[in-house]
Amino acid sequence: MSTSVFADRDVRFGAHAIELVGAVAGGLGARRVLLVRGKRSFADSGADRLLPGLERVAEVEQWSDFAPNTDAADLVVGLRLVERFDPDLIVAVGGGSAMDMAKLLCAYRGVTDAEELHARIRAGAAVAERGTRLVLAPTTSGSGSEATHFAVVYIGDAKFSIAGPGMLPDAVVLDPALTVSGSPYQRATSGVDAIAQAVESLWAQGASEASRDYARAALELLVPAIEGFVNEPGLGSARPMALGAHLAGRAIDVSKTTAAHALSYGITKGYGLSHGHAVGVTLGAFIESHAEAADARLQPGIDAGVHRAVMGEILGAFGAGDGAEARERFDDLMRRVGLKTGLTAAGADTPQARAALAAGVNVERLGNNPVAYTAEELALLLRALD
Ligand SMILES: [Zn+2]
Repeated sequence: MSTSVFADRDVRFGAHAIELVGAVAGGLGARRVLLVRGKRSFADSGADRLLPGLERVAEVEQWSDFAPNTDAADLVVGLRLVERFDPDLIVAVGGGSAMDMAKLLCAYRGVTDAEELHARIRAGAAVAERGTRLVLAPTTSGSGSEATHFAVVYIGDAKFSIAGPGMLPDAVVLDPALTVSGSPYQRATSGVDAIAQAVESLWAQGASEASRDYARAALELLVPAIEGFVNEPGLGSARPMALGAHLAGRAIDVSKTTAAHALSYGITKGYGLSHGHAVGVTLGAFIESHAEAADARLQPGIDAGVHRAVMGEILGAFGAGDGAEARERFDDLMRRVGLKTGLTAAGADTPQARAALAAGVNVERLGNNPVAYTAEELALLLRALD
């Protein structure tokens, strides 16, 4: 793969690239490094092999004591640690939560009071710049967090997305060898999340030519690789998955996500499905609905010709001739990686439960979706799922 796919970003891609973290830190002039990392995944993935090289160039403090969903209560603990340890570089090694946490530590450095932190998060000001260097190394494929300028943080049940150019890392270390140690379910849900990001990015109102190039390249890498990656993981499938997930992250960094993601948060919260699984439950239905939508259903600002062309590409990525077939192919892919499709199996088995999920989405926030849905139309689409 040519380096041009990474464009203007510093990405060290390759098996065992994780051992380069010390050299990257040295190149950034780091002397004091806060290592934000997963708990068990750090050793299980082999990421701990970065330590000898990193400890040669800098004093290292490790932090892993935070819950999987980045929460303001954990964040303030991390911010106090940053205040005490005073790092000049923060390195995150882990899944989306570890990387989001590191981005948030940079964004809110200097805030150590919980009330002030909550106020700053609620105000949601853009993170313009940061005084701390940042290196991100994903151990899953993937959230794409290493490629985006935003991070999610919760205050209680309320979800906030914090964004700004200051959230982009100085360097990314993309090591596919780290990604094969998770459970099959973890690999499946992360991989489906990346596929959904690429699909949603292609059809998003916010897409650009550049983001569509990333999304196309991502789909081409992810769809053929995911089944082998989940069921018989090895470097042969881990490489295209790591690269594809990163490129899907680059795509949504520009376009943001759409309807399947918007619905997923209620499914995760109400029925406990992990994020990628929750996204995958409705993605097939949206592919079919978007492929069949009459021009009059498209949002203002969506060019009907461009939408048809993009949907043709998405159907093609799944080897399908029409929307119904693409939905079947996608749902079949879900089953082959061990994920139950439909909402009945998840427990949302009544029309009332479906209606509640639809009502939980702010339809105004669906403005990035190419097809306009009223709350009633969304409820109908959900009712028609298994
Ligand atoms: Zn996602």
